[in-house]
Amino acid sequence: MVRAYIGLGSNLNQPQEQVCQALAELAALPQTRRVAHSKLYRSAPMGPQDQPDYINAVAVLDTELGPFDLLAKLQAIEQSHHRVRKRHWGERTLDLDLLLYGDLEIATEKLTLPHSQLHERAFVLYPLAEIASHVVVPGRGRVIDLAQCCSPQDLQRL
Ligand code: AMP
Repeated sequence: MVRAYIGLGSNLNQPQEQVCQALAELAALPQTRRVAHSKLYRSAPMGPQDQPDYINAVAVLDTELGPFDLLAKLQAIEQSHHRVRKRHWGERTLDLDLLLYGDLEIATEKLTLPHSQLHERAFVLYPLAEIASHVVVPGRGRVIDLAQCCSPQDLQRL
């Protein structure tokens, strides 16, 4: 079993429901147990500002799936939410990021771990700190320390 952390985000088609449904779908993945999830957070969009705020959360899974299999399952869930993506950093119905997979470090186009922007995004670090403050991000340090160095900007816990 490996402990994996998943970042969830949505800003289209009733984002809170998209995220809650995706949390249930993560819990139903094969060879996987959902251990915990954060509260929902509201964050201002990065990139184009003429789009709705995002709803974000982080989930913790214990899984026997390998990292690439897990990524494929995440992408299948995204697709099942009829993911639309109109532009880079633009609005989307559901975005699932594999943030951490145990202490695995890998850098390929298909999968980079830890997730390449994990250490600089408040909407990832704050929900992650809520449920896994002691966890060490390989090469970066403890989640709690990373969160304390990251401005919360307009992040709002719901
Ligand atoms: P995005 O839609 O911006 O999350 O990017 C999705 C693309 O990033 C896909 O082609 C993935 O294969 C790739 N990718 C690389 N590392 C990761 C990761 N840790 N989690 C999710 N997608 C990743």
